[in-house]
Amino acid sequence: MTSTFASGNPDGFDYTRSGNPNFRLVEEAVAALEGTRHATCFASGVSAITAVLSTLSSGDLVLAEENVYGCTYRMIDKVFAKFGMRVKYLDLSQPSNWEQIRICRPALVWLESPTNPLLKVIDIFGISRVAAEQGIPVVVDNTFASPYLQRPVSLGATLSLASTTKYINGHSDCLGGIVATNDPAWRDKMIFAQKALGLQPSPFDAWLTTRGQRTLALRMERHCANALELARWLESRSGVRMVRYPFLPSHPQYELARRQMSGGSGIVIAELDCPAETALDFCRKLKYFTLAESLGGVESLICHPPTMTHASVPAEVRRQVGIGDGLIRFSVGIEDVRDLVEDVDSTLRGVLG
Ligand SMILES: *Cc1c(COP(=O)(O)O)cnc(C)c1O
Repeated sequence: MTSTFASGNPDGFDYTRSGNPNFRLVEEAVAALEGTRHATCFASGVSAITAVLSTLSSGDLVLAEENVYGCTYRMIDKVFAKFGMRVKYLDLSQPSNWEQIRICRPALVWLESPTNPLLKVIDIFGISRVAAEQGIPVVVDNTFASPYLQRPVSLGATLSLASTTKYINGHSDCLGGIVATNDPAWRDKMIFAQKALGLQPSPFDAWLTTRGQRTLALRMERHCANALELARWLESRSGVRMVRYPFLPSHPQYELARRQMSGGSGIVIAELDCPAETALDFCRKLKYFTLAESLGGVESLICHPPTMTHASVPAEVRRQVGIGDGLIRFSVGIEDVRDLVEDVDSTLRGVLG
C-alpha cells in the first residue's frame, strides 16, 4: 500500500500509477490463467475497455458484435465517437458477416462471448483467423466465461479483456479489469494507457483480486453445475418462453460452445411470458437471488436487463437485438442448488400462477 517507491529499488517500481507489487501479483496470476505472456490490470472492466479503445485514432473504425456489453456500447457511442472513432455493429454469430472484416478493414474487431445478456456464443477461432489474414487485432471480452473456461488468446485473439469485478475476483468486494496478450507491443500500449490515462487500480483492490482468483477453479465448477441444473429446470417449466444457457443442447451455438468453452459458466437467461412489470416483480420477490446489477460473485443475483444493465441502450436497438421485456438474467451463485430452484419455482408460481 504505497503511492511511491524509493528511487533505485531492485524491482524498478517508481510510482503506483505505473506499477505496484500487488498489480504484478494479479497480472501474473491472470496471465497464467489466460495462458498469455502478459497481462495489465486496471481499476475496472470499463477502465480496461478505455485502455484498449484509447490506442485508436480519429477516423479509425471498430467492427463490433452488435450485442456488446452496455457500457462498451455507451463508451464507443457517447465518448470515443466525439473524437472521431467510427463503429459498425454486426451480428458476428453469423459467419456470413465475417466477410465485412475484409471489406471494411477496421482498426479493431471487438467481440464478447458469451454475450451480455443474450449469451450468444461467437466463434473466436473463426473470426480471429479472418482478422489475422488482414493483420487486424481482435479483442475478446472474456468476462462471462472467465479464463477458467475459455482462453481467447489461445483461440487466436490478440487481446483477452475481463472485468475482474466478476468471476475472477468473485466476491463482489471490489472492481477491477485486466487485458491479457502475448504481443509485447500491445503490452506496452496497455502499460502506457494505465499510466497516461490514470486507469490503475488501488493496490488493495489488486490484492483482493489476487485473493479472490485463488478459488476461481472451485467456484467456476460450482457455478457451472448450478447454472446447468437451473437452466434444465427452467426449460421444463411452463410460463417460461425461452431459456438460454451455452451448455443446453437447445442453445443455437451449443456445438461451438462445447468446442470453445470447458463449461457453460454461471449465467442463465430466460424470457418470462409476461410484461416487463411482472418480470421485475418476479425478480424483486426472489429470496436467494438479490435484485442487483453485476454478476459472477458467490451470491446469486438476478437482473432485468431492459430496465437495468441495458437501460442505456435505446429501446429500438434492444428489441432489434432480442432483449424482450420479459427477459431476466440469473447470475447463479454457489449456494445449494436445491434452495435456488425451489426459490425460483415458488416465486414463479406466485407471480405467474
Ligand atoms: C461488468 C462488465 C464490464 C465492465 O466491468 P466493470 O468492472 O463493471 O467496469 C465489461 N464487460 C462485461 C461483459 C461485463 O460484464
